[in-house]
Amino acid sequence: MNNIKNIVIVGGGTAGWMAAASLAKFFEGRQATITLVESSQIGTVGVGEATIPGIVDFNRNLGIDEVELIKATQASFKLGIQFENWNRVGGTFFHPFADYGMEMQHVAFHHYIHHLNTQGTQLDLTDYSFPIQLARQNKFAQPHPNPPSPLADYSYAYHFDASLYAAYLKTFSMKLGVKWIDGEVEEVNLNPEDGFIQSLQLKDGQIIEGQFFIDCTGFKGLLIEQALNTGYEDWSQWLFCDAAVAVQSELVGEPTPYTRSIARENGWQWRIPLQHRMGNGYIYASRFESNDDAEQLLLANIEGRVINAPRHFRFTPGRRKNIWNKNCFALGLASGFLEPLESTSISLIQTAIAKLLTFFPDASFNQFNIAEVNRLHNSEMEHIRDFLILHYKLSERDDSPFWLQCRNADIPDSLKHKLGLYQSCGHLIEHETESFEPSSWLTMYNAFGVVPDSVDIRATVASSEMLIKNLQQMKNSIQGAASQVISHQAFIDRHCKAVPPKESE
Ligand code: FAD
Repeated sequence: MNNIKNIVIVGGGTAGWMAAASLAKFFEGRQATITLVESSQIGTVGVGEATIPGIVDFNRNLGIDEVELIKATQASFKLGIQFENWNRVGGTFFHPFADYGMEMQHVAFHHYIHHLNTQGTQLDLTDYSFPIQLARQNKFAQPHPNPPSPLADYSYAYHFDASLYAAYLKTFSMKLGVKWIDGEVEEVNLNPEDGFIQSLQLKDGQIIEGQFFIDCTGFKGLLIEQALNTGYEDWSQWLFCDAAVAVQSELVGEPTPYTRSIARENGWQWRIPLQHRMGNGYIYASRFESNDDAEQLLLANIEGRVINAPRHFRFTPGRRKNIWNKNCFALGLASGFLEPLESTSISLIQTAIAKLLTFFPDASFNQFNIAEVNRLHNSEMEHIRDFLILHYKLSERDDSPFWLQCRNADIPDSLKHKLGLYQSCGHLIEHETESFEPSSWLTMYNAFGVVPDSVDIRATVASSEMLIKNLQQMKNSIQGAASQVISHQAFIDRHCKAVPPKESE
């Protein structure tokens, strides 16, 4: 009897339409009204095109056909991120969505590699990653369906056109009954007794009433912050980049099956290849570089012809103190923002929606549910924050005040503990709410040259000769399998080639 029957989403960017699609599916066959209000005058942020693997499950759980979605969003596949100039100028490493090698005798693989290397071998962890071998050759294959095997134990994500993704989910949601209103919210009306949101007033005078409000209004947080004063936790003492400039260009050559992240003197540049174009951007610390210089630097480092005007963004790295406050739930940029170094924003939308659905309230808005969702989300964001800080903290670069500041800055205690434990014994911590698996942390430690002082003693028991022989076989089988795989472009052409936008118009 106390069920929520009237939900209002404000904002029609990626967050708004992901929420609408998920809630429409959640309420399918049950009585509830879901209304999405967005302002075409204000528009969306229009970036956010690199994802991490959870997006594949998100779409699958909605019942969306993968091939249809890839074609509709001009998507390409993403096996991970290639980091250039990060550990040192000229250095390159790859972060795959995958484990390395295979656990043996219940001991993680990297312990064997470190143990053998202390015995004089020069084994390279990256030789035991199938997706890294594919990426090096510009190839793509979906994971083999028969785990456990290094050929099966990896995931992939997409690069997609963010506006086309939102448009796809809009059609999907409206088919499931979501009501859409193009209008600008001018006032948020609160109940004077309990401070809950009662209704929204649009510029044209319409009043939209609701029981539960989802704030997807972007950085401003119109409901969660401007109306409810929830508060924001600023993390700029740890993450120094606070500005970005983005531009699209024509694609030159074949799309890579990975995002490129190229470190520069005061930040880093991204290249995100789609089927029909390249997304480019530069994230930087505004205290070290002006907007004009940043734009020039970006434009000077683009391969194809530029096809739109550069767009500038400013942000405060951090998070909303609580994403759920009273009868308002914030998603996307309204809930906080960490720079897109590991493409975590869309993933955070998705995991926040999953938590919301698990603890979906009734009209009593039980405080325990709210507190648990906030606890889980806050902890997830802290782990991502720590993972991002690691990229800067461990770099050897000392060629600019920006990099010196990154190296010398203090780090959160949670990260000190994680890093210290790995340095001492090679142990990789996995928390309840980690977006990145231990293998991702291992990638960073390995790429930045952190070698543990000791390893799991069980890895030292087997005969080194036998281990080396087994590892050689594993490496050969990975390389052999990679040599059979077709190129990323050939995979797209064969399975999911999109119609170029001009032809489809
Ligand atoms: P927006 O896209 O800003 O949408 C806000 C919506 O609210 C719009 O529809 C707007 O019209 C509406 N609105 C606002 N005010 C009102 C009002 N008063 N009345 C009615 N409607 C209103 N994420 C990734 O996962 N991967 C990436 O590679 C990535 N790269 C990024 C690069 C940059 C430079 C930035 C800034 C972000 C990046 N992100 C990335 C984050 C990603 O873009 C966002 O998480 C995602 O687009 C969701 O945005 P949103 O829907 O929260 O907000």
